[in-house]
Amino acid sequence: MYNFLPYEGHMLGFVQPSGRGEFTERTIRIERLGATKKDESIGGVLVAWVAPSTNGGVLLVGWYNNAIVYRRYQPPPQGSGRVFKDVEIGYYAKAKESDCVLLAEEERTLRVPRAEKQMGGLGQYLVWYADSGKVNDKRFRQELIEFIRLYGHQRLENELNDAKFTTRKFVEGTPRRVTATTYERNRKAREACISYYGARCLICGFDFLEFYGEIGKGYIHVHHVNPLSVVGQGYEIDPIQDLRPVCPNCHAMIHRRNPPYSIEDIKALIQKHGG
Ligand SMILES: [Zn+2]
Ligand SMILES: [Zn+2]
Repeated sequence: MYNFLPYEGHMLGFVQPSGRGEFTERTIRIERLGATKKDESIGGVLVAWVAPSTNGGVLLVGWYNNAIVYRRYQPPPQGSGRVFKDVEIGYYAKAKESDCVLLAEEERTLRVPRAEKQMGGLGQYLVWYADSGKVNDKRFRQELIEFIRLYGHQRLENELNDAKFTTRKFVEGTPRRVTATTYERNRKAREACISYYGARCLICGFDFLEFYGEIGKGYIHVHHVNPLSVVGQGYEIDPIQDLRPVCPNCHAMIHRRNPPYSIEDIKALIQKHGG
């Protein structure tokens, strides 16, 4: 109830570490995340949150990118009102609100594999450190990271192709979930891509201005070609290396698969089928 309720621009995440005694006395073993024995916290951690589904099984529900993870229980900030049944709810992980994603219910499609018999396997405890060398654990870790990157990629593309970008008239104000800086940065990247490549589809050659006249002027999607490079807030788009103008039809075909088809793949398909 509090892990995705922002407080002063941050998410504060609670989890119950395993161990004996009061939960506030228990510790997260941050050495397993790369900290030294002396450290009280470690930064730059990807924290994934999972929860049981009403249909059975356990699903990924969200994540904190670039989080700080604390060894010890941190009491909630004064006046934050983070209380449940008269018990204060503190935290072990903290991240900027803009670095956190809570998936909508229909987006919760990544299933966490069932715990294995051996000790310390994923699902045995409420905290899993993802540092195991076991094949299944490594596979799930990889799958999780890819899911998160592809999600970020899709969100970036939605922002790049938001209706407000695709007309010449720029509408003031920012859409939900997109910060003003991100919005401005993406708008510039989109414009730089189009001024370099033109507003014609790089795959099929479709040109909205040519086909529809004035109303089609400047209308085109931009596709981001390297989905797995999109990581977190610090990511900078290179408009020429990373973006390509494509028409919405070709763009839809690119994304018929995850990871997406390449520009060349779709070009080849058009050649083959005589489209
Ligand atoms: Zn096209
Ligand atoms: Zn795309």
